[in-house]
Amino acid sequence: MAIERTFSIIKPDATARNVTGAINAMIEKSGLRIVAQKRIRMTREQAEIFYAVHRERPFFRELVEFMISGPVVVQVLEGDNAIAVYRDLMGATDPAKAADGTIRKVLAKSIGENSVHGSDAADTANKEIAQFFAGNEIIG
Ligand code: ATP
Ligand code: MG
Repeated sequence: MAIERTFSIIKPDATARNVTGAINAMIEKSGLRIVAQKRIRMTREQAEIFYAVHRERPFFRELVEFMISGPVVVQVLEGDNAIAVYRDLMGATDPAKAADGTIRKVLAKSIGENSVHGSDAADTANKEIAQFFAGNEIIG
C-alpha cells in the first residue's frame, strides 16, 4: 500500500472542549503519524477558500463562522492509505450516524460542530496541505 499524506483540522468545538490530545491519541493509535501540526486562528478568507466547494450550500455562512470562532489545530497525517484510513477514523459527517469508536461518534456534538476535518481525495489533500503548510514545516 502507498504511503500517503492527508490534511486534518481539529475544529473549534474540539479545541474548546480541550480534547486535542484525545484526538491525537486516536490518530496515533490508528497508525497514522502526525508529521506537521500547528494551532492557529483561521482567518475568514482562509476559511472561505478552504470550504469554497461548499459556497452554494445553505450551511456555508454558518460553517465559515464556526471555523473562525476559535482556535483550530491544522495537521498533516502520514501513513499507508492515510486518506481513507483517516476518513474511517473520523466517522460519518453527522456524529449521530458515525460508527462506534470513531472520533465523531466519541467526541463530536453535531453535524455542524463535528470536531475534525479530513481530506477526501489525493488532489484535495495536496491542495489543502499547501494552503496551510510550507514544505519545510512537514517533517516525516
Ligand atoms: P469535512 O470536509 O469537514 O472533513 P465531510 O467531508 O464529512 O467533512 P462535507 O460534506 O465535506 O463533510 O461538509 C463539510 C463540513 O460542512 C462538515 O464537516 C460540517 O462541518 C459542515 N456541514 C455539512 N453538512 C452540514 C449541514 N447539513 N449543516 C451544517 N453543517 C454542515
Ligand atoms: Mg469534506
